[in-house]
Amino acid sequence: MKIFATRLCFLAVLALIGTPCCRAWDYEGHRLINQLALDSLPKNFPAFVRTPVARERIGFLGGDPDRWHKTPDLALRHCNGPDHYFDIDYLDLYKIEVSQLSHFRYEFAAQLAAGRAAHPKHFPPIDPLKDSDRTKSLIGFLPWTITEYQGKLKSAFSYLKEYEAAGTPEEVANARENIIYIMGVMGHFIGDASQPLHTTKHHHGWVGDNPKGYSTNYPIHAWIDGGYIQQFGVSADKLRSKLRPASTLAMAGVPVAQTNLFPAVMFYLDEQFKQVEPLYVLEKAGKLSGRRELSQEGHDFITGQMLKASQMLGDLWLTAWQQAPPDMFLRSALMKRKAAAEQRLEQPAR
Ligand SMILES: [Zn+2]
Repeated sequence: MKIFATRLCFLAVLALIGTPCCRAWDYEGHRLINQLALDSLPKNFPAFVRTPVARERIGFLGGDPDRWHKTPDLALRHCNGPDHYFDIDYLDLYKIEVSQLSHFRYEFAAQLAAGRAAHPKHFPPIDPLKDSDRTKSLIGFLPWTITEYQGKLKSAFSYLKEYEAAGTPEEVANARENIIYIMGVMGHFIGDASQPLHTTKHHHGWVGDNPKGYSTNYPIHAWIDGGYIQQFGVSADKLRSKLRPASTLAMAGVPVAQTNLFPAVMFYLDEQFKQVEPLYVLEKAGKLSGRRELSQEGHDFITGQMLKASQMLGDLWLTAWQQAPPDMFLRSALMKRKAAAEQRLEQPAR
């Protein structure tokens, strides 16, 4: 991938150590992305996710991880905040290439620490009083978060199949509720990744060298998140008509192992990162402006990003369902339970 040439400058570092929590698309945007993803699924996908109640819940849950931002609890702020973004261009400061990223969250955290230790001049000291949730030395975990949720969804489909074969109606109902919950929450993060400002150090205006004179306005982020959509609207029907059917995840040129989707998720994120500069170009040309008439080009850009998220999400859901392996441990436990129940029935009552 192409990483923006980075020259260390005070502004860039300031932005790094001051990374605020971001919401990406406002609730309405996340809700739309989740529900469009449902529309991309094939007819043979489990029908319980498409009842009106489930559709509403999956839409509602698209906003949940942003609701978690509101808590003052430091442990949640620490683990939830960086899950919503990944500032790819900051990797330059750590001298880490995208191809060198560990596919595992904690190993990546160690890579960051090693990068800091090896290049101390790139990182001014962090004031602990301004870093109570200990997130200022992080650059985000978004692709790991998505990959981990995909694993949880696959697991839920695995145990649902076992409960459907040999469980109680209550167990089946609970497993289905879990799937709806995971689908809804993970949709949030795939949506976040399609907001290009969630993939870059330029998340609240351009930082550092700025020869092309891009906007340095902090509110640009909130404007793209929700202000733009609120002002100009999104036609769900129009977007729906552009949806392609979901397909099992297979990114061109990216090896996709059933037990490790990180490369495919990172590929998706990198594609959105490539839209950072086009976004700033459109903004500079006034094509994302709320003070002018709607620019079709700007509108197509914003809604196109949302559509990409819906497609990726539908592909991930479909992949999880299709690739969910049998849960042999649960199968064995359910067989033992059934045998024990049958034995009790055969014994005469005393
Ligand atoms: Zn978010």
